[in-house]
Amino acid sequence: MTAVETPPPAYDLPEPTLRIDGRHASAQEGQTYESHNPATEELVTTVAAAQPADVDAAVTAARHQFEQGEWSQLSGSDRGKILTRAAQLIEQDAHTLAALEAVEMGKLYHDSVNGDIPAAAEVFRHFAGWADKLTGSTALLPDMGPQRRFGYTIRQPLGVIGAITPWNNPALIAAWKLAPALAAGCTAVVKPAEDASLSTLRLAELLTQAGIPDGVVNVVPGLGAVAGAALAAHPGIDKISFTGSPRVGKQIQSLAGDTFRKVTLELGGKSAQLIFEDADLEAAMPWIAMGNFYHQGQVCAAGTRVLVHESRVDEVVAGLVAAAESAQIGDPFLSTSTMGSIVNRRQLDQIMHYIDLGISEGAELVTGGSRLTRSGYFVEPTVFRGTNDLTIAREEIFGPVATVISFATTEEAVRLANQTRFGLNAMVYTGDLARAVTVTEQLRVGTVWINGWGVPDPALPWGGRGGSGIGRELGRAGIEADTEEKTVHVGL
Ligand code: NAD
Repeated sequence: MTAVETPPPAYDLPEPTLRIDGRHASAQEGQTYESHNPATEELVTTVAAAQPADVDAAVTAARHQFEQGEWSQLSGSDRGKILTRAAQLIEQDAHTLAALEAVEMGKLYHDSVNGDIPAAAEVFRHFAGWADKLTGSTALLPDMGPQRRFGYTIRQPLGVIGAITPWNNPALIAAWKLAPALAAGCTAVVKPAEDASLSTLRLAELLTQAGIPDGVVNVVPGLGAVAGAALAAHPGIDKISFTGSPRVGKQIQSLAGDTFRKVTLELGGKSAQLIFEDADLEAAMPWIAMGNFYHQGQVCAAGTRVLVHESRVDEVVAGLVAAAESAQIGDPFLSTSTMGSIVNRRQLDQIMHYIDLGISEGAELVTGGSRLTRSGYFVEPTVFRGTNDLTIAREEIFGPVATVISFATTEEAVRLANQTRFGLNAMVYTGDLARAVTVTEQLRVGTVWINGWGVPDPALPWGGRGGSGIGRELGRAGIEADTEEKTVHVGL
């Protein structure tokens, strides 16, 4: 198929303003920042940049709604109906949400419209089902003298959730944070990433249309060091839920320590794909390649340490090279593109820096390694052969750079996989179920995919160990983390 340069489909930008208590507002002193299209370097729009006083107003609105508004008082069943409506509206609006993500951060429109956005709708649908099922537990207690006793627990909404999100899956990760919080009866203030705030602003409009009262969801776009830091430090929030880099995650954790508020940190990864000698490579190769190159490698769960049994290394390298060299890199709106652009200049420079480091530290560059000579921030998918101690195998690059590393035994594969400060996820490819289960038990990570790779599912928890974070989102653990469990002792 010949790629035809088509203009982006028509879509409306949301108001690029703050959204506080259901109203659009400018930032204090009219502060703004520019959002650029990384595929063309052209200006998309100018967005209001929240200042500490704006964040304070948003937290005040969320706190007021939580304490005196109707949302936390609604029955779980009624909240569930509204969240189900939100899921439907997100699906109906998928075209606009996906276009906003494509134009702001270079993600493929068709990946977003068929992937992230329906997945975000499913997150709302899933947690809508939880809204009337948040139960505690009961226990019969020993008598105390003549008094008979029993006890029970109730789950109550935690309060105001401060959500800080990254740019790589903006609507989906906002959904991960908002849907369980809203189902539990909490209110929220969201600080989206400056490189991709429009889909979150649009999402907030849809939540209002679904019937979520003003003040429940407030959005404060702005710079991380200003708006994000003000939100993380604000005494009026009960929990900070952060997804982003380990560098900022550390700062958030120390702020949370001072205030004793709850904190969830979903940080980066440097995940391993373990490919054993009995793997069905015909079935596995598309997953292994996608785990490196999907969304230009800008995925926390990317499996960029490709650990391969020595007998299969050449086949896996050939498979990755074929995937890399057949990639159609270009306009994120084109249906024929298989890779879009890198999110911004800084991220592109970081990727090129790591590629240079790989070469200077002695890794073998098998394919790729160059930036495309055209406007926009495009880089070739890149494959190295190397070892686990290279910088490119130790640090999160957040770009389409795979390092293939050979192992001889299962024990060595597990040792190499665990030899990292991260612990987000791992992928295991083998035809031997017993080995898959044993290796899975030995991997120090939050999630393992066996014979596949993909996005987290709202039915199951997601989160990391070690340098990949603290706490869990999604699943039962995710919604329970947005509640307080209160214990009641009853004497009869
Ligand atoms: P980032 O840490 O630079 O920014 C994340 C968010 O934090 C943004 O909204 C940013 O504005 C804000 N921020 C920046 N400085 C801040 C400060 N001082 N105080 C408070 N907030 C601040 O990360 P990014 O570049 O947007 O995202 C990429 C990172 O996110 C990668 O490390 C990736 O692995 C990670 N990530 C993790 C997951 C996961 O589920 N574990 C999912 C997606 C992305």
